[in-house]
Amino acid sequence: MPEGDTVWNTARVLARALTGVRLTGSDFRVPQLATTDLTGWRVTDCASRGKHLLIRLDEPTGAAHWTLHSHLRMDGTWRVYAPGERWNARPAHLIRVVLSAATSTAVGYHLHEVALVPTAEEHRLVGHLGPDLLGTDWDPQEAVRRLADRPAENIAEALLDQRNLAGVGNLYKCELLFLRGINPRTRVADVPDLAGLVTLAHDLLAANRGRWTQSTTGSLRRGQTSYVYGRRAQPCRRCGTAIRKEELGERVTYWCPRCQPAPT
Ligand SMILES: [Zn+2]
Repeated sequence: MPEGDTVWNTARVLARALTGVRLTGSDFRVPQLATTDLTGWRVTDCASRGKHLLIRLDEPTGAAHWTLHSHLRMDGTWRVYAPGERWNARPAHLIRVVLSAATSTAVGYHLHEVALVPTAEEHRLVGHLGPDLLGTDWDPQEAVRRLADRPAENIAEALLDQRNLAGVGNLYKCELLFLRGINPRTRVADVPDLAGLVTLAHDLLAANRGRWTQSTTGSLRRGQTSYVYGRRAQPCRRCGTAIRKEELGERVTYWCPRCQPAPT
């Protein structure tokens, strides 16, 4: 599941393959950029901002700086292929963007919100985001302030709201609430230690940065990587109670009814 750490990893893979490289071709299979051609453009940087991916490029003359934005949502991915390698990560009809260079080709599958904007206007796409959990400018106090700003919201939805803090997806949301013993329906105002929750969010994502298997338990063994996420009806690793799963807001939530008692 693409969460902040997955997007961070993706940006790193793209940066290694493309930074400083001049493109020999491009193919945009999204209507809004169907006629765009980035041949001769030079990639200067690839970065993540929360769950958004930013590929920065210079025009052939170097005169203007642009940002190619994409969002992975639930199912998007970028893959880098060597010259001549088969593009076999996903079915071809899911390809949205191809960036070709002499040394490698980056293929974006099932991307969302693909847009090309002047780099100076990146804020139009990512300016609404709260502090980036994996950004060099991560600001826990600001994340707490933004969460506390909407005290009546339930904490499960507040953690997913990227305007509060950027990078938490459904997996980390469920695991964070379990680790802090917080019921997902708790109002933000009733969470005893928002600062502790925000700090743990940062620590979990940072711990998983640089690898593709996401674990909140410390174990990388299959079936052992989460406490509650994806474990409906299985026994809680702490107390043995069956883990519950329920729709809450737009997303499903997993929790232990004993370790995370309902707010009174
Ligand atoms: Zn439990």
